[in-house]
Amino acid sequence: MNHKLEKCLVSSCLIGLPTRYDGRCKRNNKCVNYLKKYHFIPVCPEQLAGFPTPRPAADIVGGDGFDVLKGQAAVLTIDGADVSRQFIAGAEAVLQIARMQNISLAILKAGSPSCGNSATPGVTTALLRNNNIDVIEF
Ligand code: SF4
Repeated sequence: MNHKLEKCLVSSCLIGLPTRYDGRCKRNNKCVNYLKKYHFIPVCPEQLAGFPTPRPAADIVGGDGFDVLKGQAAVLTIDGADVSRQFIAGAEAVLQIARMQNISLAILKAGSPSCGNSATPGVTTALLRNNNIDVIEF
């Protein structure tokens, strides 16, 4: 790895690590190719929150990740358990890594209640964007 390259965070499942709720990965070859110009650090906010893998699927109900951070929406598992607090803890862990490493860019997985950006911003995306870290979605 070339340490003179700009650093970024990347969703670990995008580069092939089996960290998804269903124990699989979502390797994205376009993303892996894009990362060649970065010194990337893989993160999985849900694993950093302490969830096991596999784990129950979860989704944001009543808003998006920004609303979850404000306590105006919730992350619920398919079993109906409120896991908002854990999702926020995972997002805070990712933010801490970004700060420790002086990182201002995150390349995250689309369509996730943690990492999604465009359709419904996830909890991690919202916390990073609130702290002036750019998020690119794959
Ligand atoms: Fe991938 Fe993010 Fe889900 Fe972890 S939380 S498996 S990094 S989409």
